[in-house]
Amino acid sequence: LTTGALIAQMLVEPVGLILRWYDELQVAQVSLARLVGVRDIEPDAGDATLAPDGRQVRAEEVRFGYREGVDVLRKVSLEVAPGTRMALVGPSGAGKSTLGRLLAGIYEPRDGSVTLGSAELSRMTAEQVRSHVALVNQEHHVFVGSLRDNLRLARTDAQDTELWAALRAVDADGWARALAGGLDTEVGSGGVALTPAQAQQVALARLVLADPHTLVLDEATSLLDPRAARHLERSLARVLDGRTVVAIAHRLHTAHDADVIAVVEDGRISELGSHEELVAADGAYAALWRSWHG
Ligand code: ADP
Ligand code: MG
Repeated sequence: LTTGALIAQMLVEPVGLILRWYDELQVAQVSLARLVGVRDIEPDAGDATLAPDGRQVRAEEVRFGYREGVDVLRKVSLEVAPGTRMALVGPSGAGKSTLGRLLAGIYEPRDGSVTLGSAELSRMTAEQVRSHVALVNQEHHVFVGSLRDNLRLARTDAQDTELWAALRAVDADGWARALAGGLDTEVGSGGVALTPAQAQQVALARLVLADPHTLVLDEATSLLDPRAARHLERSLARVLDGRTVVAIAHRLHTAHDADVIAVVEDGRISELGSHEELVAADGAYAALWRSWHG
């Protein structure tokens, strides 16, 4: 896929998405490759020999804004210990999703750094970053092309047997096998329309193929009906199992069970600790918790 083809695909997305993408394109075109999982838009953009020497994702004094002069993150420092679950909570607009995108290497900090082991994400190629850290959200799940193309965005050399295994891992092999064209079925715009739940499963299957050790999960307001959502949660739980997870929590029960909760307020981390610690500290998290449990 070329940049031109990608932009053509973006044009068939709803207008709101195009506008959002337009912003992101202006921030960094390399980032586009990381977000949609297409390799080599800018082959020279990173150092392919830079192998991370650890699994710890760390933000250090990160400053970031979408527009010059408007900082969305101000000196954010955060360590995600391998094998743990971290939840990001805080008011809407505080910068949680933005921080998630930086931790997944989709945007680069204006100041400070995001590192994996001792390697800076911004110095790695998109493909390298993706094989270690991935962002999961509810947007941009299906692109113009066949089901095979859509899955191979995660790993262009994946064989059909691996694609089927990935579909099976997320409970999507049933409907996928029922498609007349199998993996050749066109599923993007103009092709077979996938339900929102099926589109999410395709995104999860891509994760299974890329197999990153760390996932940033930005659960947006759900487009799904409750039954589909429950079904998908089971698949998601299986995909998350054994991985380091940073979950941006829009619902508090996600945060409650996390090993560490980071409260994001106005572009800063204002509190950090377990649920018990933060409730005992009686600060912003405790107030959020009380209001959510009204
Ligand atoms: P949260 O996830 O905590 O609700 P966000 O990270 O989405 O917060 O947003 C933080 C700030 O950055 C908000 O002021 C929001 O309007 C702005 N913002 C988020 N995404 C973009 C974008 N793609 N382009 C420009 N501004 C953005
Ligand atoms: Mg958000």
